[in-house]
Amino acid sequence: MQEIFDQLIAKIKKYNKNADFDKITRAYELAREAHKSQTRVAGGPFIIHPLEVANILADMSLDSDSITAALLHDTVEDTDVTLDDIKSQFGKEIADLVDGVTKLGRIPYSSKEEQQIENLRKMFLAMAKDIRVLLIKLADRLHNMRTISSMPEEKQRQKALETIEVYSPLAHRLGIQKIKTELEDISIKILDPIACREIEENIAKKMVQNEAFLSSIEESVKKRLDEAGLKHTISSRAKHIYSIYRKMYTQNRSFDEIYDLFAIRIIVDETVDCYNVLGIMHDMYKPIPRRFKDYISTPKPNMYQSLHTTVIGKAGVAFEVQIRTKEMDEVAEMGIAAHWKYKQNITDKRAGENLIWVRQLLEIQKESEDPDDLMRALKIDMFADEVFVFTPAGDVLNLPQGSTIIDFAYAIHSGVGNNMNGGKVNGRIVPIDYVLHNGDIVEIIRSSSSHGPSLDWLKMCKTSGARNKIRQWFKKEKRDENITRGKNEFEKEIKRNGLSMNDVLKDEIRVPLLNRFSAKSMDDLYAGIGYGGFSLNKVILKVLSECDKQKKQQEPEPAPELAAPEQPEKPQTKNYRGILVEGMDNCLIKLARCCNPLPGDEVVGFITRGFGVSVHKKNCVNVVNNTERDSNQRWVKVSWTQTSESLFTSTLQIVSRDRLNIVADVINLFSTMKIKTSSINARETKDGFTLINVSIEIKSLAQLEFVMNKLSRIQGVIDVVRGMQ
Ligand code: MN
Repeated sequence: MQEIFDQLIAKIKKYNKNADFDKITRAYELAREAHKSQTRVAGGPFIIHPLEVANILADMSLDSDSITAALLHDTVEDTDVTLDDIKSQFGKEIADLVDGVTKLGRIPYSSKEEQQIENLRKMFLAMAKDIRVLLIKLADRLHNMRTISSMPEEKQRQKALETIEVYSPLAHRLGIQKIKTELEDISIKILDPIACREIEENIAKKMVQNEAFLSSIEESVKKRLDEAGLKHTISSRAKHIYSIYRKMYTQNRSFDEIYDLFAIRIIVDETVDCYNVLGIMHDMYKPIPRRFKDYISTPKPNMYQSLHTTVIGKAGVAFEVQIRTKEMDEVAEMGIAAHWKYKQNITDKRAGENLIWVRQLLEIQKESEDPDDLMRALKIDMFADEVFVFTPAGDVLNLPQGSTIIDFAYAIHSGVGNNMNGGKVNGRIVPIDYVLHNGDIVEIIRSSSSHGPSLDWLKMCKTSGARNKIRQWFKKEKRDENITRGKNEFEKEIKRNGLSMNDVLKDEIRVPLLNRFSAKSMDDLYAGIGYGGFSLNKVILKVLSECDKQKKQQEPEPAPELAAPEQPEKPQTKNYRGILVEGMDNCLIKLARCCNPLPGDEVVGFITRGFGVSVHKKNCVNVVNNTERDSNQRWVKVSWTQTSESLFTSTLQIVSRDRLNIVADVINLFSTMKIKTSSINARETKDGFTLINVSIEIKSLAQLEFVMNKLSRIQGVIDVVRGMQ
C-alpha cells in the first residue's frame, strides 16, 4: 500500500512539483484509517481502491484537490467520516468534490431506452457541477471495471451495461479517449464474450500476418518524412475491440470488411506539418475515396482534432493514417483533462485560449469569466434551466427548473395529476408546492376519492403542460356548474344592457355570436364564460354590436346627398366611429370624459360593463391605475381611423397673472379662430393669479396644440394645460 502511495507521489512530482503533498498525505492517512476494517471483494485492503483511483487521475496530471478528493471519495459513503470532518480538515472545495462524487454514486440505474439513457447522462452532468467530480467518478468506475472479475456474473453484466451506456459516453463527451476505450473494451468483453474472443483472435491472426507489413510501412514512411525534414513520431496499432465490434454489429460488416483495422499515427510539431505529411502519404499510397476527414479545420464536438485518411498499401491491405500535433494528440487522449497539463507551464494568454476550449467543449454559452481563474471554468452549469428527477420505476423526467410535484404528476399523465393527493420525495412526504431538485426520486400519492386539482395549483406549477391539463379538468369535470354560473352572469349582463334574452336567442344574433367564439351551443358559450375561457365582456360586446347591426339594417339608408355633416354635439358619448378596436368590428365606442382624447393622442380602450369600449389617453390616470388592478383582458388596443370630420370636446386650463380683460382676450382669440366654446369659467386666486377653465370643440390634437400655443402668447398668460383641474 505504502508502495502504491509512494508511486502516486512520484507520479505527481513529475508533472507538478508544487502540488500540496501535505494535504495529499493527510488524505491518504485519513482514508487508510477510515477504511482499515474493510476489504475488497477482489481481495486486499480497501484502501487500494482509492489509491488506484488517485493514480488514474495522476496519469491525467490532475491537480492536488482532485487527487485529495479521489483518496477520500468513498469515506463519506462507506465509513464514519462525515462531510463536515472533510470540510474542517481539507476545506470546502474538497468537501464539495467528495460530496459530488458521493451523490453521483447514488443515482440509480437500470437499462432503459435511448431517450432515458440520454436524460440519465444529462443528469450526471447536471449534478456534477464541477468537471473534476465527473473525472473522479470516471476514474472510480475505471478502477472498479478493471477489477470486476471477482464480482458475481449478474453484477458484472449490470455494471458493464451501465458503463457502456452512461460512463463511456460521458468520457467521450469530455474527450477522454483513453478512459472511454478502456471502459468499452472491458464492458463489451463481459456483455458479449464470444464475439469479443472472435475479434481478438482475428486481430491476433491479422497482426501476425501483417506485422512485417506494418513495420515496413512505418519504416518507409519515416524515411520519406525524414527526407522532407519533418520532425515526427510514428506508432502503429490495431483498433480497439469495441470500435470493431460496433462496426461489425451496427453496420453489419464482416471482420474482413473493416478497412481501418490497423492505423498508424503520425505526430508532428506544427499544424501546417499535418497537411504536408498528408500530401506525402497520399503520394506514397493510394487513398480510398471519401475516407479523408479533416477534423483539424472542423473539430469534433468534443474538440478532437486530427487528419484521418485511409490508404491502401502493398498487397492491398488498407490502413488508416491519423496525423496530428502533439497538443492535438494530448487532447485526443485526455480530452478535458489535457487542460491541467497545459495549466502547469503556460502564459496567461494560453490559459485564456484553453478556457475557451473548455467552454466550447462543454457547449456553455456563458459570459466571459476571469481568464486567470481556471477553476471557475470547471464549475459546470450546463443544464441550469432544467432539472432531472426519477419516477419510482427509475425513469428520468426532464422538467424546467423550478418545477413542483404538480408538474411532475401531470408530466406522467393527466390522470395522475388529477387524482393527486400529495407526494413523496426520496421517501418523505412533501408539500404540494415542493420544488424539485436534481436526482430526486418522486412518488405521487393518488386517491380515487380525490376532489381533483384545485385552482391554486395553477400558481404552483411551472410547466404550461400542467396548467393546460388543470384548466382542461375544470372545463370538463365542472361543465354543469360552469354552464349555470356562466348563464347567470350572461343573463345579468344582458339585462343590464336593456336587452332581453329573447332578443339574444334570435338566430340573427345567436349564430354570429356562437361563431365568433367557436361555440357549438349556448351551453358551450355559458360553460366557456363559467370557467373563464371567454371573457364575459367580449361576449356582451359582440352581442351589442350584432344588435346594433340589426337595427342599422332595419333603418332606411339615408340618401347620400342628404347625409348631414357630423353634428358637433353628438360624437362624444354616442357610437363614435373614428376609432378602430383591435379584434372587434362595429362595437360601441365612447371617448372617456376623464381625459378627452383627441385624434393623434396615444389611446387605449377599456371594455366597460354595458357601454362598449371606452377610449382613454394612454397616460390618463385611470389607465395607469386600472391596468395594475384589473385583469388585462379588459384592456384592448385601439387606434384612430385616418380621417375624421368629428369635433371633440377638449378642456384647457389657462393660468394668467391677474389683469384687466384677460378673460375677454381669451374669448376673443377663440372667436377669431372660429372655435366653439361650450363653457368658460374664471376665478381669481388669493396670490394674484387668474385661472380660466374652458371647454372647447376641437378637430384634432394638432389644432389643439396650435390653440394652446396662441393662448400662451396672450399677454400675462403663464401656463396653458390640457385637462380639467
Ligand atoms: Mn469508489
